[in-house]
Amino acid sequence: MNKKFLRELKEKLEKQKVSIEAELGKFAKKDENFKGDWDTKFPKADGGVGGQILEDAADQVEEYVNLLPVEHNMELRLQNINLALDKIKKGFYGKCEKCGKKIAKERLKILPEARECGKCEK
Ligand SMILES: [Zn+2]
Repeated sequence: MNKKFLRELKEKLEKQKVSIEAELGKFAKKDENFKGDWDTKFPKADGGVGGQILEDAADQVEEYVNLLPVEHNMELRLQNINLALDKIKKGFYGKCEKCGKKIAKERLKILPEARECGKCEK
């Protein structure tokens, strides 16, 4: 793989990493005990009068439940991005984790954090 292409992908990955971390930071806090893991902040019920408190709480639980898959998805992407950056550093980026063959450039352009070639993912 040529260096220019690799550098482009690395920049792309780093940008994605920053934006995902910023997104996650809006509703999740970084778990200090486990690197790369994020916990969704459970929205606190504060304020509200009478029945409003319960209603708000229900809304917040719903919000929390809705956020979980989103958070999980972003967390997964972030892990893959970190993995890809690590592979670039160690010099074995771009190889399929399953069959060991090179991942097509076109695929890496679209999905620089891809861990498997197009054939293996199917
Ligand atoms: Zn493969």
